[in-house]
Amino acid sequence: MTITPALFPEFIRSVSESINSNVELVSELDEVLGDGDHVFNLQRGLEALAAEQEAICQLSWPGAWHKIGLILMSNVGGASGSLYATLFLSLGKQGSETSVDARYFADIFALAIDAVKLRGKSDLGEKTLLDVLIPVAISLKESADRASSLSDILNEVCVVAELGVEATRGMLATKGRASFLGERSRGHLDAGAKTAQLMIFAIVGVLRNAVNIN
Ligand code: ADP
Ligand code: MG
Repeated sequence: MTITPALFPEFIRSVSESINSNVELVSELDEVLGDGDHVFNLQRGLEALAAEQEAICQLSWPGAWHKIGLILMSNVGGASGSLYATLFLSLGKQGSETSVDARYFADIFALAIDAVKLRGKSDLGEKTLLDVLIPVAISLKESADRASSLSDILNEVCVVAELGVEATRGMLATKGRASFLGERSRGHLDAGAKTAQLMIFAIVGVLRNAVNIN
């Protein structure tokens, strides 16, 4: 089965369900290290995307990604809003391919993560959502190099996303509001890393269903 933007409503439903059932956990994390609004920022973005899902699922992938980026840019506040908007706007910029295979997606996802790094002036190890997204980008490239099956690609993505969020616990925050805490930022998971992992798991769940992987 080809993965097309017709699946978009499924992605939104699954990601929203995961975020909505973790509101308390994510709020607690962002209250410790930030200002507590991270999960509500994401919920606002997801609601705005759900409102436009009929239009989005008619588009090609680059068109869909571009529209998602614009919607996030204008509806989601906070650092995470502009970073996710940057990610999707960058994906939307990468040509006009209508069918997306693992190699192509790995390459454009890596470019999009570079754009996020630039936007956030941040990199691996700074206790942010990039501690999940960068390992995922690396894993996608390595899987494409090995010509792994989709099942193996998705399994590997979940493993590195989980390790990425756990790794933020011991890190010193050097970017965003959490950096104001200095050494006191150690010992807690980063809220943005946690939601990145939750959203990736939700997306992987939809992909596994779509291609009948159990
Ligand atoms: P804000 O911090 O502006 O209130 P959110 O609460 O929506 O924004 O998002 C906070 C999350 O954004 C953090 O947990 C962290 O993962 C991520 N973040 C913040 N600043 C940066 C940055 N400069 N680079 C990458 N990620 C960042
Ligand atoms: Mg916040």
